[in-house]
Amino acid sequence: MVSRLRPKREPLPDHSSLTRIRERYGLRTFRRFFERIVELCVEAGLVWGKELYFDATKVEANASLDSMRSRSLMEHGLEEHLADIFPEEDQLVEESANARQITAVGPAGQEVGQALAEANAKRHRWIEEAGRQQREVVRWGYRRLADLRTSATDPDATPMQRKKKKGASRLGYLTHYVVDGGKARVILDVLVTPAEVTENLPMLELLFRSRFRWRLRPRSVTGDAAYGTVENVAAVEKAGIRAYMALPKHDERGPLFGKSEFVYDAEKDLYICPQGETLRRQGCDYKERSIRYAARPSVCSPCPLKARCTKGTEKGRWLRRSFEEEYLERVRDYQDTEPYRKALRKRGVWVEPLFGEAKDWHGARRFRLRRLEKVNTEALLIGAGQNIKRLLTYGHRGPDQPEQVFALRRPAPDLYESRSVRKHRKRYPGRSARVFQHPVSFSAAGE
Ligand code: SF4
Repeated sequence: MVSRLRPKREPLPDHSSLTRIRERYGLRTFRRFFERIVELCVEAGLVWGKELYFDATKVEANASLDSMRSRSLMEHGLEEHLADIFPEEDQLVEESANARQITAVGPAGQEVGQALAEANAKRHRWIEEAGRQQREVVRWGYRRLADLRTSATDPDATPMQRKKKKGASRLGYLTHYVVDGGKARVILDVLVTPAEVTENLPMLELLFRSRFRWRLRPRSVTGDAAYGTVENVAAVEKAGIRAYMALPKHDERGPLFGKSEFVYDAEKDLYICPQGETLRRQGCDYKERSIRYAARPSVCSPCPLKARCTKGTEKGRWLRRSFEEEYLERVRDYQDTEPYRKALRKRGVWVEPLFGEAKDWHGARRFRLRRLEKVNTEALLIGAGQNIKRLLTYGHRGPDQPEQVFALRRPAPDLYESRSVRKHRKRYPGRSARVFQHPVSFSAAGE
């Protein structure tokens, strides 16, 4: 009687089988698996697609800060060592690097197409490169600590700061989520980058990939101030999507008048200062993509507000206006509206609990594996697991919508699978054949 009530137990694959499966399939297959689950959620009607929410969380790496060594010594030594062991691998790396030289798509000889292809080839692909840092890009002359030092245990993990304690205290990664605004809170994309990669950098790629991959028409995109860079805001607004993002107020932190104290006159293309004087256009800075406006020194010198306006003794007050200022102004105008406030409130209860769930229930507080390919695999499996839970239980304690039942149907066995299972049963009688999967099914699903 007891044995009839007990659920049927199947032998679990052991640890070495899981390691071999992970190494044989590679990150691409795991991403296809994750996307197949999202596809099932889309088919089941769980993805709304009108609002997208972005957030990222820090995850500790499986490496100690004590394992940090000089990067140049590590990379030099490592390359030589790898070349000795895997001579053919170098050839493969060279071939894949050559494959990235994309040729123009469209009618041959068209200059625009060629320029577009060249620009695309130069673009850093965050997802394709598994979140790898663009180490050759140095912004504002700032050298990152990870440019000089790297971990001998996990060379992709980088130092990250604890929120309440000063100084780098752990090695870690940043897990980025794109979450649908529908009630089921389906995770549409997952990417892990080193902790030093700020949230704003892979955002546009994640947004446009989610949009085109799932054929969504989002009305708004919501993220915190970390996402509100000029580049992101302008690209999102140009795509006809509302950028509900807090804009950082760099120029309003000091004791001097911020830019908001000056009024822009679009007709005359000048700024009016709090004293009623004009700041005229002086020239453009194409590197920073901004226009410079300045007041005459002869006007500022006798001004009673000068101490609160400028520190310069010989020059008058000056301001910068971004080439994309019209989009920034549009986003500033959203901030007084109820939909904007609602979106920011919703973000707090939409994405952050998903990170809490992943950390408390699925072991995402600290990665078990090392290197970007493997931690991305781990995060994709956790994200897929969270989506499967929603697919199974959304609404009630099981699938109730016909679309959900349809999405969860068992796939029809194909000839190859039946033959493999028959062979396996003959060879290992008594062992379950259901733990084995072949990558072909994921490849076919991902195409
Ligand atoms: S210091 Fe110059 S720019 Fe500033 S308030 Fe006075 S006149 Fe205007």
